[in-house]
Amino acid sequence: MNPLAANGFNQVGDNLAMTIDVPTNPLTNSDRLMRWNNRFVQLGESFYTRVQPQALPDPYWISRNEAVARELGLESAWFESREALNAFSGNQILPGSEPLAGVYSGHQFGQWAGQLGDGRALLLGELKTPNGGMEIQLKGAGRTPYSRMGDGRAVLRSSIREYLCSEAMHALGIPTTRALCLTGSDAIVRREELETAAVVTRTAPSFIRFGHFEHFSYTDQHAELKTLADYVIDNFYPACRDAAQPYAALLQAVSERTAHLMAAWQAVGFCHGVMNTDNMSILGLTIDYGPFQFLDAFDPGHVCNHSDTQGRYAYNKQPNMAYWNLFCLGQAMLPLIDDQEQALAALESYKTVFPDALEAKMRTKLGLSDAQPDDKALVESAFKLLASNKVDYTMFWRRLGEFTPQSGHEAVRDLFFDRESFNAWALHYSDRLAHVNAAARADLMLKNNPKFVLRNHLGEEAIRAAKLKDFSGVNTLLTLLQAPFDEHAGHEAQADFPPDWAASIEISCSS
Ligand code: AMP
Ligand code: MG
Repeated sequence: MNPLAANGFNQVGDNLAMTIDVPTNPLTNSDRLMRWNNRFVQLGESFYTRVQPQALPDPYWISRNEAVARELGLESAWFESREALNAFSGNQILPGSEPLAGVYSGHQFGQWAGQLGDGRALLLGELKTPNGGMEIQLKGAGRTPYSRMGDGRAVLRSSIREYLCSEAMHALGIPTTRALCLTGSDAIVRREELETAAVVTRTAPSFIRFGHFEHFSYTDQHAELKTLADYVIDNFYPACRDAAQPYAALLQAVSERTAHLMAAWQAVGFCHGVMNTDNMSILGLTIDYGPFQFLDAFDPGHVCNHSDTQGRYAYNKQPNMAYWNLFCLGQAMLPLIDDQEQALAALESYKTVFPDALEAKMRTKLGLSDAQPDDKALVESAFKLLASNKVDYTMFWRRLGEFTPQSGHEAVRDLFFDRESFNAWALHYSDRLAHVNAAARADLMLKNNPKFVLRNHLGEEAIRAAKLKDFSGVNTLLTLLQAPFDEHAGHEAQADFPPDWAASIEISCSS
């Protein structure tokens, strides 16, 4: 057996191994719609290899996300065209696009993994959009020099999960890469089973990871390390330029963004599953959706990645793992910062920003718009109670919005088998609500406690239908998840408890 298969790497599928000519057409319709400004290319050849996508045979649309298309300034008529389908399945290169695969390294599951890179992602370039520069990547567009033993492909199953979850996260207000569209093909991809190929077109201001910095640091390419840091500062963290030590300021700014990201994940009950340093965005975005999961029943030690046998990336360890990863970033940046004490000081802010940000998020989930000294205890006792009663996390917060000290509160109390301890907590909460405006609280809670999250079983149902060429489930979920705080009458089923079979879903790194 391929020794890397256990890590999700797979031999090249026979029917995908051939190279397919990519037709280029200089007179395309996209010409007048898309303005490219490929800044990453200008960093130089040490940062990437130019690669043409490997065409997805006989591609078809699975889903187009009009919201992202609008943000990119794409015309809907063009987005529906054959040319767009060809472009976003690697069958046609748009004029102005300069496809490349980037190189990075990283720590995987606590070990230095050496060189990694875009093994199946291709940067098409950077589009000038009304909202600034947005890089466009194809994920699953074939082999690159960084594919190692992998086939450079992505399967339909994992592509649907990334497509839907990145949009769900965005709508929840959580920083993330986004997804423009999903194309599929009947071409077979070999994983544990035979599956079919898909390509996600994803977009972000930058896909630079902590692992990019590690790469140039550990290969002693310190001039390139500086070029990279300057690029990140100039384009994404301009305020750091004015600091006495801009690179230490960058490390601190990244630590703070990462702290905010972790607070957002913890508050919504999101487990990433593979928080390796190559999956940590320098912009503090959620990136590389693999075996992620939104918690169903609240279990602080929940491990969503079936391949993570040590539980390194358990839900309650995520904030510490992010700090560990920031340490790796700090280590990698030492050649630029020189002074170890200064690097340590830059990381230190994480320790205050994360708990403060989490507390603020939890306060809004409780409907509290001001801070009181006792709030932390109220939140902690809620977490304890949710864990000991294995309460459905999303449902608890949503139902708590209807709780009032005066009313009976069966709906939320029914989620607990130990009703007495819930009653005790409810008294504490009622005291806190004594001077809180009820309407403002209800409004705050409705906007901060989603009704719809991408539970594993929902994704699984959409995937099963999609395998039979019914993509309506994917598109319905997209609509619900893009407005997760709305009621969506008629869609109670997607907001309901997970069915029993959900517990047996096993999601591994294989994608
Ligand atoms: P991940 O854990 O998905 O973030 O992947 C870790 C590394 O493996 C990245 O460098 C990926 O590009 C690469 N990789 C994962 N799956 C494949 C594949 N099927 N083909 C080529 N490279 C892959
Ligand atoms: Mg990755």
